[in-house]
Amino acid sequence: MRAATLTKFDAPLTLRDVPVPTPGRGQVRIRMHASGVCGTDIHVWHGHFPVQVPVVLGHEPVGTIDELGEGVTGLKAGDRVGVSWVQKGCGACGHCQRHQDLYCDEAVTWMNHGGGHCEFMIAEAAGCTRIPEQLDWATAAPMFCAGFTVMSGYRNAAPRPGDRIAVIGIGGLGHLALQVVKAMGHELIAITGTPGKEQEARSFGADHVLTVKQHAGQELAAMGGADVVISTSNSMAQNSQVLAGLRPEGRFVTMAAGSEPIAVDPLLALSRQIVVKGSMQNRRADLVDVLELAVAGKVKPKLELYRLDQVNELMTRQKDGKVRYRGVLQIAR
Ligand SMILES: [Zn+2]
Ligand SMILES: [Zn+2]
Repeated sequence: MRAATLTKFDAPLTLRDVPVPTPGRGQVRIRMHASGVCGTDIHVWHGHFPVQVPVVLGHEPVGTIDELGEGVTGLKAGDRVGVSWVQKGCGACGHCQRHQDLYCDEAVTWMNHGGGHCEFMIAEAAGCTRIPEQLDWATAAPMFCAGFTVMSGYRNAAPRPGDRIAVIGIGGLGHLALQVVKAMGHELIAITGTPGKEQEARSFGADHVLTVKQHAGQELAAMGGADVVISTSNSMAQNSQVLAGLRPEGRFVTMAAGSEPIAVDPLLALSRQIVVKGSMQNRRADLVDVLELAVAGKVKPKLELYRLDQVNELMTRQKDGKVRYRGVLQIAR
């Protein structure tokens, strides 16, 4: 089978021909239909994640169950599934006992077994989530990282009915965050540092669009501020600024990784009692919920589609910030 493999950091992925893998105990083999490319893949490619090379990238994998390993129940050949980042915890630690395997020190992820940019992927059965029949593969794939992440981000903001919510950073995650927030019925502001995204931001559900000129926070405040700011922006300068646009007891939730710090003005923080919070894929229920929003047509990723052998073209566009708005590899129809 073909597998797009990271063999050396910062070097193009290699399309290798490797043996079809056999699932071990508790695992499944999935015939891949599609696999999304995420901004995090670029961090991995640069060597910012603890992966051993060679490794197959791809943490938005979707496909059909092809073979079951020993001891797998509840799944059968032909089932449509996707695999989320954390597939399984150790089962024994306090976090796992609380069904919070995302915090488990021994959590199994795609970094252990390899990801979805290949024809057949091995995954823990526990990491598989069913994909509703109505969803096509390319639409389903981005739900497994981007969609899951933004649904958890929305929930981590502790939104209240009537909250005015802003999303800063309109890319792969942000365009889905806008749609999730809109689906939940909030007044919605899209904030972007890139001119020319206004019309598309409105098509994703934004009631207002702020294209930042000087200072994201002051400009947001001038528009009346927001109770919640959900950030998918890699600009930590803008993330720092935008806090000034939070209303009293506002919540800022960030999902974007970066090496720069976010600066919090302590006087601002205490006078308005704001919360600054990080968020990642949290409860599996968030993934199931965003899949259901996709089935309802309320969340619809805007896609660029590629073949597996075009993976480096897509990775380059992702690195350069040119993807509008999610790139997906179509592997089998
Ligand atoms: Zn991701
Ligand atoms: Zn554990």
